[in-house]
Parts: sequence; structure tokens; C-alpha cells
Amino acid sequence: MKEDWNIETQAVQGAYWPENAEPRVLPLIQSTTYRYDTCEELAKVFDLEQESHMYTRLSNPTTDSFEKKMALMEGGVGALATSSGMSATVLAFLNIAQAGDGILASSTIYGGSFTLFATTFKNLGIEVILFNPELSAEEIIALGKPNTKAIFGETIGNPLVNVIDFDKFSKVSKALDIPFIVDNTFATAALCKPLELGANIVIYSTSKYIDGHASVLGGIVVDGGNFNWDNGKFPGLVEPDESYHGISYTNRFGTSAYIVKARVQLMRNMGMAPAPFNSYLMNLGSETLHLRMERHSENALKMAKYLKNHEMCDWVKYPGLEGNQYYELAQRYLPKGASGVLTFGVKGGRDAARKFINALKLVALVTHVADVRSCVLQPASTTQRQLSDEELIACGVSPDMIRFSVGIENADDLIADFEQAFARCK
Ligand code: PLP
Repeated sequence: MKEDWNIETQAVQGAYWPENAEPRVLPLIQSTTYRYDTCEELAKVFDLEQESHMYTRLSNPTTDSFEKKMALMEGGVGALATSSGMSATVLAFLNIAQAGDGILASSTIYGGSFTLFATTFKNLGIEVILFNPELSAEEIIALGKPNTKAIFGETIGNPLVNVIDFDKFSKVSKALDIPFIVDNTFATAALCKPLELGANIVIYSTSKYIDGHASVLGGIVVDGGNFNWDNGKFPGLVEPDESYHGISYTNRFGTSAYIVKARVQLMRNMGMAPAPFNSYLMNLGSETLHLRMERHSENALKMAKYLKNHEMCDWVKYPGLEGNQYYELAQRYLPKGASGVLTFGVKGGRDAARKFINALKLVALVTHVADVRSCVLQPASTTQRQLSDEELIACGVSPDMIRFSVGIENADDLIADFEQAFARCK
């Protein structure tokens, strides 16, 4: 029944269905441990013969409900919550790649993921080939090698707000017989469902719109259950796992093999589990996801139109704005709204952008995006501060660029704040 609900109902009630006289609200189970009557029963849990909680690093009832809701909203077979978005990214790839393997990743991704790939994964012996997502499917396919284990992109890139062409990425993944992994942080299932567009695994920084209130860090990996791992490329999922009495994940867990392995092997060994209280807050935040995403998108479009016509604004990029390079893709893949993040440039370049940000009163300068409060950041003076102007332009971040995460306040108040800030920059 929950599978048939619309996403709005899944967001509100999909996670938890209380029995008679049980709490109406998902309870916070703040316990690391779970009591068992007999050694035999607990042994069954250790042998994966019985599905129940045994230790909160592996699973917890509050986290479990949140995971089930995310899997439901994305249309996956299961999910694994993590302590941050970065740990979800690490886990999603290490579950299928090891030293000697490679990954194809869009170059227009979050800076932290870029650095993870370019340094940490490289040091681990995993070669990540970063490609321009505007290349044709054939050109991307040509970058594939026998050791390539996945293709990766962000639904809406951070910070360039480019929309990926799902048909193209999906074509590459099928041609190379590798999973298509999507970071859906900026769009969320309320606006885009990657698994319906050819993706196999969806990852998130749930610290953003899922929590929505900038109060907790978290991440999640959702398994589409729609990739055949038994194709000769993923022995870790097919061949016996000696650390689990020789079980084969594909034989034992079928379409859930990927997500079960991620939990019982990687989460067990590396331990980037979320605190139950964070899962509780994530779940609470996610109950209003659909409403917030609607308002974020509506406000962002209003602000993009306002900026487009402003004499002190040089340029504005928002995929929901007619004329934007990604407008057609946004219409196709994000018909309910293009989310709340846009970028723009103030006339006068880097210094003018700095002055403008310093003059804002309601809209705050913070190193974050995607929560209810509007905020801005100038990548050139913060996150990309180490890069020269030439390097900034090469990675698509112009020195004057301001990233604007549009909140759910009244857009007229945001415009009034921008007006007074522009006036003080003249
Ligand atoms: N993915 C995207 C698209 C992000 O924007 C971020 C953080 O900004 C991350 C992943 C990493 O998430 P976290 O900060 O929760 O570790």
C-alpha cells in the first residue's frame, strides 16, 4: 500500500506505521544495544538468518524507519543511512570498487566529492576519470576501460546548477554494463526520481533538503535493486565473503545484494553510522520535504527572474529559468520545479560580489545550501579560495559568482534585502 502512495503521503507517513496504541510519532530509540533471550537467537542475527537489531552501528529502529522512507520515496529496494553525505559517497563506491578499479564521474560535482575522488580514492588505487558531462554518450563510453565500475553524476550539480542528461548517462551505463550512481541531494525525490530515469544507486547528503533545517549532518545510499551484479565485474557481490562465513550476497539476497553488503560488510567494518537522534531529526524534517521543495523552487524562480532583469546583475543561472542552458533538461527531468539553488554575478566582478554579500541583512553568508533559510556564498573567496582566476574559470566557477540557496521565506522580503544590498554596492 505504501508503494502506491504519492510521494507527499510517503514523506508524511511512509516511514512508520504504528500498531494499536503505539506512539503516533516515530520514536527515538536512543540505544546502542538490544537484549536477547538466548545465545542461539542472537547467533541467528549474526549469521544474517534473522533480520533484527543487534548493535546500532549496523541498524537501529529509528534509523531503520528513516531508511525505509527514503527507499520508498526513491522507489528502491533498500537504503543505508550514514553519518554524513561524504560517508554515503565513500560507501557507495567502496562497495563495488577497490584498488585497481576505476570510476567515471562527471566533473561538475560537489567540491568535496571531487577532492575525495582526486586524492583519497587515487591514494587507495581507485582511478576516477572526471569527464565533462556535456560530452556525447559515445565520447563518454570511449573513456570506459575494462576496470571501470560505475558512472556518476549529480542530478543538479553543486555549485554549477547544471542538470545531467539522464538518458545519456543511462546509455553509457548500459553500454559499459556498469551501475549509474546519482547524487540526488539538490533535487530530492520530491522533484526527481533517478531510479525511474535509468539510475541504479541514489546517494544523498541528507544534511541538505532532507533535514531541511540545517540542524543535522547525514547521508544515505538507496539501492534501486535494478542492476545485475553477476556480470563478471563485481566479484565482491557474487563470490563468497569469507568475513561472513562464505556467503554470496547475490545468491542470498538477490536484488538487495548491494545494500545488504554495504551494511553488513562496509558499515560493520568502517562504522560511519548515523546517531539515532540524527535519524529522528532527519525523519522529522523529511515529513515536510514535498512542501518545502515546492516553495524553494517557486522562490528560486522568482529570484532568478528578478535578478535577470536587474541592472546590477551581470548574469543569472537557474535551470528553471527560460533561456537557461539546462532549461529543456529541467523541463524533462524536473517538471515539478528546479529546486532552490541558483548562481549569479554582480556587475563589477569579484569585489562587487564581496561588497554585495557583506551588505545583505536577511540573507546570510554561510557554508551551506539547501535549508529553509536563504543563504549565499562566494566560492572564489571561500570554498575555491586556493584557485587562481584562470583555474576558477576552468572549473566553471567565475570569480564574480555568488551561489544563492533560496529559502522558504516570502520572496518579497528577499527581494527587498537584495535591493538594499545592491544600493549599498553602487
Ligand atoms: N553531495 C552534495 C551534492 C553536496 O552538496 C554535499 C555537501 O555540500 C555532499 C554531497 C557532502 O555532504 P555532507 O556535507 O553531508 O558530508
